[in-house]
Amino acid sequence: MPSQVTQAATIGGQPELTDRTFDVLDPATGSTFATVPDCGTAELDAAMTAAAEAFPQWRRDRSARQAALLAISEMLFAHAGELGRLVTHEQGKPLADAIAEVQGAGVWFKHAGRMAPLDATIQDDRKGHAKVRHLPLGVVAGITPWNFPIFLAAWKIAPALLAGNTFVLKPSPFTPVASLRMIELAQQVLPPGVLNAVSGGDELGAAMTTHPIPRKLTFTGSGSAGREVGKAAGAGLKRATLELGGNDPAIVLDDAVAGDIVPELFWGAFTNSGQVCSAMKRVFVPAHMFDEVVDGLVDLARNVLVGNGFDEGVRLGPVSNRPQFERVRGLVDDAVRRGARAIGGGPASEGPGFFYRPTIVTGVEDTMPIVAEEQFGPALPVLPYTDLDEAIRRANDTNFGLSASVWGGDDDRVRSVGEQLECGTVWLNSHLALAPNRPFGGAKDSGLGTENGTWGLESYTQLQLLYSPPAAGY
Ligand code: NAD
Repeated sequence: MPSQVTQAATIGGQPELTDRTFDVLDPATGSTFATVPDCGTAELDAAMTAAAEAFPQWRRDRSARQAALLAISEMLFAHAGELGRLVTHEQGKPLADAIAEVQGAGVWFKHAGRMAPLDATIQDDRKGHAKVRHLPLGVVAGITPWNFPIFLAAWKIAPALLAGNTFVLKPSPFTPVASLRMIELAQQVLPPGVLNAVSGGDELGAAMTTHPIPRKLTFTGSGSAGREVGKAAGAGLKRATLELGGNDPAIVLDDAVAGDIVPELFWGAFTNSGQVCSAMKRVFVPAHMFDEVVDGLVDLARNVLVGNGFDEGVRLGPVSNRPQFERVRGLVDDAVRRGARAIGGGPASEGPGFFYRPTIVTGVEDTMPIVAEEQFGPALPVLPYTDLDEAIRRANDTNFGLSASVWGGDDDRVRSVGEQLECGTVWLNSHLALAPNRPFGGAKDSGLGTENGTWGLESYTQLQLLYSPPAAGY
């Protein structure tokens, strides 16, 4: 790979380079590694118009769309190394994880390419014949964050295209490069204008949401930006799916075996250096097991190899960008100032890049920001409890409601505790188990709507009822 990458946007099937550009940093070195177009209103209008013009033809042939999605899936597997290297450069995660992210996107496209139609006859009796059809909406505007740039774009693009919509993607300004390249590669199997990508800052995202052409906004990112997207959707009567932040609790039950679950807790919290919307962000542990669980987590935190994602054996990369690094450091420092203990981690003492070692935080109160807010980084508060009902109440005592997990030896009890948690996903003796056929979405402030599975596909469609009265003689 050349030392400096210039990556074009894609509008109407053509690469688009603009006079205005912005730089993308490699978080492991803190240096510029790529330059991308800083798209403005003209490029946005052109992309939206291209998508609108491609829509009438694209909506016609479902089997052609399925074939294209399967071809994109194959392309992603074939280019997983190339795209994975771009993801490691711009996002920081270890190369094996970056390649797995691209392959995961390939799995999502493959699943979409094989999904059965949703249309169904819902009534055929003496009161009449009723069929429900699922029509595409038109142009979809997709806005993605920096933690899983390729994977989360696939969650949106694959079902939207399958449903017959055309698409304009705006990736995060921190991680636009792999996404732009993926869309450029996809042009080999798509008609011009079906899938477009523009790069730019937050203001470009805002401009997409108020643009007159898109009929649907699909957004993954922070709650604050999500609220702005929601407002624009309301004002423009556009449909919207909002996947926002989380503050996922994990509840360890008193019959869990610490030695078995500690590695699962660690990776549930620290995968992607904790920058996962549905990472474990608070762990509730029975008081009698607290020291054993904390010691196990600290041991893993001290020994895991943190470094440049291109280096052999590295399991955790840097925090993805400076603002997020400062946020995580600020939350941990604040907790320590309030009397908490931060063990095993902290910022790397030397060298460039935004490295912050995985940190276990104890002696915290539920009201401290490190517990009450979403840290979205490599710092995990662990909280003891003595009464399970109280732990469940504390786990639910948040405006977030993305996901949660429960850990224990008795499956019925684990399930019963899980059923009391107020969130979109509860994992039982697991965490971060995602699949393209399973719905994913947040309760409360964690979002609106659902991605994945038939529920996600349906969100890219307009229901149409076809009703006819009963035939004579019924
Ligand atoms: P962010 O909200 O800052 O940015 C996300 C995207 O929105 C970027 O492309 C950005 O340019 C754009 N944007 C910013 N302001 C906008 C506006 N007013 N209108 C339209 N677009 C705008 O989020 P981030 O920092 O990139 O990502 C981290 C957040 O995303 C965390 O809160 C995390 O929990 C959340 N997240 C949620 C999920 C999920 O599925 N629920 C998945 C990943 C990340």
